[in-house]
Amino acid sequence: MLELRNTDAWYGNIRALHDISLRVDEGDIVTLIGANGAGKSTTLMTICGINRPRQGEILWYGQPIHHLPPHKIVSLGISQVPEGRLIFPDLSVSENLDLGAFLRRDAAALKDDLDYVYSLFPILAERRRQAGGTLSGGEQQMLAISRALMARPKLLLLDEPSLGLAPIIIQQIFSIIQRVNAAGTTVFLVEQNANQALRIATRGYVMENGRIVMHDAAQNLLRSEEVRKAYLGM
Ligand code: ATP
Repeated sequence: MLELRNTDAWYGNIRALHDISLRVDEGDIVTLIGANGAGKSTTLMTICGINRPRQGEILWYGQPIHHLPPHKIVSLGISQVPEGRLIFPDLSVSENLDLGAFLRRDAAALKDDLDYVYSLFPILAERRRQAGGTLSGGEQQMLAISRALMARPKLLLLDEPSLGLAPIIIQQIFSIIQRVNAAGTTVFLVEQNANQALRIATRGYVMENGRIVMHDAAQNLLRSEEVRKAYLGM
Protein backbone atom coordinates (compact mmCIF):
# COMPACT_ATOMS: atom_id res chain seq x y z
CA MET A 1 0.00 0.00 0.00
CA LEU A 2 2.65 2.49 1.12
CA GLU A 3 6.35 2.23 0.54
CA LEU A 4 9.23 4.53 1.40
CA ARG A 5 12.39 3.84 -0.59
CA ASN A 6 15.66 5.36 0.64
CA THR A 7 13.85 8.51 1.72
CA ASP A 8 15.61 11.34 3.54
CA ALA A 9 14.39 14.54 5.21
CA TRP A 10 16.08 17.78 6.08
CA TYR A 11 15.50 20.78 8.31
CA GLY A 12 17.65 23.40 6.56
CA ASN A 13 21.16 21.95 6.59
CA ILE A 14 20.37 19.31 9.19
CA ARG A 15 19.58 15.87 7.86
CA ALA A 16 16.86 14.38 10.07
CA LEU A 17 16.19 11.14 8.14
CA HIS A 18 18.73 8.90 6.38
CA ASP A 19 17.76 6.34 3.77
CA ILE A 20 14.42 5.34 5.28
CA SER A 21 12.91 2.29 3.62
CA LEU A 22 9.71 0.85 5.00
CA ARG A 23 6.50 -0.75 3.87
CA VAL A 24 2.90 -0.80 5.07
CA ASP A 25 0.69 -3.54 3.64
CA GLU A 26 -3.06 -3.16 3.34
CA GLY A 27 -4.90 -4.38 6.44
CA ASP A 28 -1.87 -4.24 8.76
CA ILE A 29 -1.04 -2.28 11.87
CA VAL A 30 2.61 -1.31 11.42
CA THR A 31 4.41 0.51 14.18
CA LEU A 32 7.46 2.76 14.18
CA ILE A 33 9.08 2.93 17.60
CA GLY A 34 12.04 4.91 18.86
CA ALA A 35 13.24 7.38 21.46
CA ASN A 36 12.60 11.12 21.60
CA GLY A 37 14.06 12.87 18.61
CA ALA A 38 14.71 9.67 16.63
CA GLY A 39 12.81 11.03 13.61
CA LYS A 40 9.40 9.36 13.96
CA SER A 41 7.29 12.52 13.55
CA THR A 42 9.52 13.66 10.70
CA THR A 43 8.78 10.36 8.94
CA LEU A 44 5.03 11.02 9.21
CA MET A 45 5.41 14.64 8.05
CA THR A 46 7.36 13.38 5.05
CA ILE A 47 4.67 10.83 4.14
CA CYS A 48 2.02 13.58 4.41
CA GLY A 49 3.86 15.93 2.07
CA ILE A 50 4.54 18.54 4.75
CA ASN A 51 8.27 17.86 4.63
CA ARG A 52 9.61 17.04 1.17
CA PRO A 53 12.39 14.48 0.72
CA ARG A 54 15.41 15.50 -1.36
CA GLN A 55 16.19 11.90 -2.16
CA GLY A 56 14.27 8.64 -2.40
CA GLU A 57 10.65 7.89 -3.20
CA ILE A 58 7.32 7.50 -1.46
CA LEU A 59 4.93 5.20 -3.31
CA TRP A 60 1.20 4.76 -2.76
CA TYR A 61 -0.03 1.60 -4.47
CA GLY A 62 3.13 1.83 -6.58
CA GLN A 63 2.62 5.48 -7.66
CA PRO A 64 5.01 8.21 -6.49
CA ILE A 65 3.36 10.74 -4.14
CA HIS A 66 6.38 12.59 -2.70
CA HIS A 67 5.87 15.47 -5.14
CA LEU A 68 2.19 16.00 -4.20
CA PRO A 69 0.88 18.72 -1.85
CA PRO A 70 -0.59 17.57 1.49
CA HIS A 71 -4.26 18.05 0.51
CA LYS A 72 -3.82 15.77 -2.52
CA ILE A 73 -2.24 13.14 -0.28
CA VAL A 74 -5.24 13.35 2.09
CA SER A 75 -7.61 12.98 -0.85
CA LEU A 76 -5.80 9.77 -1.89
CA GLY A 77 -6.79 8.26 1.46
CA ILE A 78 -3.98 9.06 3.90
CA SER A 79 -4.94 10.92 7.10
CA GLN A 80 -2.75 11.86 10.02
CA VAL A 81 -3.60 12.23 13.69
CA PRO A 82 -0.84 14.64 14.73
CA GLU A 83 1.19 14.50 17.92
CA GLY A 84 -0.46 16.56 20.66
CA ARG A 85 -3.92 16.05 19.04
CA LEU A 86 -4.13 19.65 17.64
CA ILE A 87 -7.89 19.84 17.80
CA PHE A 88 -9.58 23.25 17.50
CA PRO A 89 -10.27 24.14 21.16
CA ASP A 90 -12.94 26.80 20.55
CA LEU A 91 -14.95 24.73 18.07
CA SER A 92 -17.47 22.17 19.25
CA VAL A 93 -16.88 18.45 18.96
CA SER A 94 -19.18 18.22 15.94
CA GLU A 95 -17.54 21.24 14.25
CA ASN A 96 -14.12 19.62 14.74
CA LEU A 97 -15.48 16.48 13.05
CA ASP A 98 -16.95 18.50 10.16
CA LEU A 99 -13.46 19.91 9.50
CA GLY A 100 -12.09 16.38 9.14
CA ALA A 101 -14.44 15.89 6.19
CA PHE A 102 -13.75 19.19 4.43
CA LEU A 103 -12.29 17.61 1.28
CA ARG A 104 -15.19 15.24 0.79
CA ARG A 105 -18.03 15.74 -1.65
CA ASP A 106 -20.12 12.67 -0.81
CA ALA A 107 -22.47 14.36 1.68
CA ALA A 108 -24.79 11.34 1.90
CA ALA A 109 -22.06 9.05 3.29
CA LEU A 110 -20.95 11.65 5.82
CA LYS A 111 -23.88 10.97 8.11
CA ASP A 112 -22.94 7.25 8.21
CA ASP A 113 -19.35 8.12 9.05
CA LEU A 114 -20.45 10.46 11.80
CA ASP A 115 -22.59 7.64 13.22
CA TYR A 116 -19.55 5.33 12.93
CA VAL A 117 -17.22 7.61 14.92
CA TYR A 118 -19.92 8.30 17.51
CA SER A 119 -20.37 4.52 17.88
CA LEU A 120 -16.61 4.11 18.42
CA PHE A 121 -16.57 6.95 20.94
CA PRO A 122 -20.03 7.36 22.53
CA ILE A 123 -18.62 10.00 24.89
CA LEU A 124 -18.09 12.28 21.86
CA ALA A 125 -21.74 11.89 20.88
CA GLU A 126 -22.74 12.95 24.39
CA ARG A 127 -20.44 15.97 24.15
CA ARG A 128 -21.07 16.91 20.54
CA ARG A 129 -21.97 20.52 21.38
CA GLN A 130 -19.18 20.99 23.92
CA ALA A 131 -16.04 23.01 22.97
CA GLY A 132 -13.14 20.70 22.05
CA GLY A 133 -10.80 22.50 24.46
CA THR A 134 -12.98 21.55 27.45
CA LEU A 135 -12.57 17.79 26.84
CA SER A 136 -10.13 15.68 28.87
CA GLY A 137 -6.82 14.63 27.26
CA GLY A 138 -8.17 11.17 26.43
CA GLU A 139 -11.36 12.60 24.93
CA GLN A 140 -9.32 15.05 22.86
CA GLN A 141 -7.30 12.10 21.52
CA MET A 142 -10.57 10.33 20.64
CA LEU A 143 -11.71 13.50 18.87
CA ALA A 144 -8.44 13.79 16.93
CA ILE A 145 -8.73 10.15 15.79
CA SER A 146 -12.39 10.65 14.87
CA ARG A 147 -11.61 13.82 12.92
CA ALA A 148 -9.03 11.91 10.87
CA LEU A 149 -11.52 9.08 10.28
CA MET A 150 -14.05 11.59 8.90
CA ALA A 151 -11.81 11.88 5.83
CA ARG A 152 -12.51 8.14 5.29
CA PRO A 153 -8.83 7.22 5.07
CA LYS A 154 -7.53 3.93 3.75
CA LEU A 155 -4.41 4.53 5.85
CA LEU A 156 -4.48 6.20 9.26
CA LEU A 157 -1.19 7.66 10.52
CA LEU A 158 -1.08 8.09 14.28
CA ASP A 159 1.64 10.14 16.00
CA GLU A 160 2.06 9.07 19.64
CA PRO A 161 -1.61 8.70 20.55
CA SER A 162 -0.68 7.58 24.08
CA LEU A 163 1.37 10.70 24.89
CA GLY A 164 0.42 12.21 28.26
CA LEU A 165 -2.54 9.90 28.90
CA ALA A 166 -3.30 7.76 31.96
CA PRO A 167 -2.68 3.99 31.57
CA ILE A 168 -6.39 3.12 31.56
CA ILE A 169 -7.11 5.66 28.81
CA ILE A 170 -4.12 4.38 26.82
CA GLN A 171 -5.66 0.89 26.94
CA GLN A 172 -8.92 2.30 25.60
CA ILE A 173 -7.20 4.20 22.78
CA PHE A 174 -5.19 1.14 21.74
CA SER A 175 -8.25 -1.08 21.69
CA ILE A 176 -10.07 1.51 19.56
CA ILE A 177 -7.11 1.51 17.14
CA GLN A 178 -7.54 -2.27 16.85
CA ARG A 179 -11.27 -1.85 16.19
CA VAL A 180 -10.66 0.80 13.54
CA ASN A 181 -8.18 -1.58 11.90
CA ALA A 182 -10.57 -4.53 12.12
CA ALA A 183 -13.21 -2.37 10.38
CA GLY A 184 -10.86 -2.05 7.37
CA THR A 185 -8.50 0.89 7.96
CA THR A 186 -4.77 0.19 7.71
CA VAL A 187 -2.75 1.79 10.52
CA PHE A 188 0.76 3.20 10.75
CA LEU A 189 1.40 3.89 14.41
CA VAL A 190 4.29 5.99 15.69
CA GLU A 191 4.90 5.40 19.38
CA GLN A 192 7.38 5.79 22.22
CA ASN A 193 5.22 3.33 24.15
CA ALA A 194 6.91 0.41 22.40
CA ASN A 195 5.39 -2.30 24.55
CA GLN A 196 1.77 -1.36 23.84
CA ALA A 197 2.43 -0.56 20.20
CA LEU A 198 4.19 -3.88 19.47
CA ARG A 199 1.38 -5.79 21.19
CA ILE A 200 -1.22 -4.59 18.68
CA ALA A 201 1.03 -4.37 15.60
CA THR A 202 1.69 -6.95 12.93
CA ARG A 203 5.14 -5.58 12.04
CA GLY A 204 7.43 -3.01 13.57
CA TYR A 205 10.34 -0.75 12.69
CA VAL A 206 12.83 0.62 15.20
CA MET A 207 14.30 4.05 14.55
CA GLU A 208 17.46 5.57 16.03
CA ASN A 209 19.05 8.89 15.05
CA GLY A 210 17.04 9.20 11.84
CA ARG A 211 17.75 5.65 10.66
CA ILE A 212 15.78 2.40 10.68
CA VAL A 213 17.96 0.04 12.72
CA MET A 214 15.67 -3.01 12.96
CA HIS A 215 12.48 -4.32 11.44
CA ASP A 216 10.63 -7.55 11.99
CA ALA A 217 7.31 -9.11 12.92
CA ALA A 218 6.06 -7.27 16.03
CA GLN A 219 6.09 -10.50 18.07
CA ASN A 220 9.78 -11.03 17.25
CA LEU A 221 10.66 -7.47 18.24
CA LEU A 222 8.82 -7.95 21.54
CA ARG A 223 11.03 -10.98 22.20
CA SER A 224 14.27 -9.38 21.00
CA GLU A 225 16.85 -8.89 23.73
CA GLU A 226 17.98 -5.59 22.17
CA VAL A 227 14.48 -4.14 21.97
CA ARG A 228 13.60 -5.35 25.45
CA LYS A 229 16.65 -3.63 26.92
CA ALA A 230 16.48 -0.39 24.95
CA TYR A 231 12.73 0.20 24.64
CA LEU A 232 10.82 -2.02 27.04
CA GLY A 233 12.90 -1.33 30.16
CA MET A 234 13.48 -5.08 30.82
P1 ATP B 1 9.44 12.93 19.54
O1 ATP B 1 9.01 11.62 20.06
O2 ATP B 1 10.13 13.76 20.57
O3 ATP B 1 8.40 13.68 18.76
P2 ATP B 1 10.56 12.04 17.03
O4 ATP B 1 11.15 10.66 16.99
O5 ATP B 1 9.20 12.21 16.49
O6 ATP B 1 10.63 12.57 18.52
P3 ATP B 1 11.32 14.19 15.31
O7 ATP B 1 10.38 15.15 15.96
O8 ATP B 1 10.97 13.66 13.99
O9 ATP B 1 11.58 12.96 16.30
O10 ATP B 1 12.77 14.86 15.28
C1 ATP B 1 13.87 14.29 14.55
C2 ATP B 1 15.03 15.28 14.55
O11 ATP B 1 14.72 16.42 13.77
C3 ATP B 1 15.40 15.80 15.95
O12 ATP B 1 16.79 15.91 16.02
C4 ATP B 1 14.74 17.15 16.00
O13 ATP B 1 15.43 18.02 16.85
C5 ATP B 1 14.81 17.61 14.55
N1 ATP B 1 13.69 18.50 14.21
C6 ATP B 1 12.37 18.20 14.30
N2 ATP B 1 11.61 19.23 13.89
C7 ATP B 1 12.48 20.21 13.53
C8 ATP B 1 12.32 21.54 13.00
N3 ATP B 1 11.10 22.04 12.74
N4 ATP B 1 13.45 22.24 12.75
C9 ATP B 1 14.68 21.72 12.99
N5 ATP B 1 14.89 20.49 13.48
C10 ATP B 1 13.81 19.73 13.75
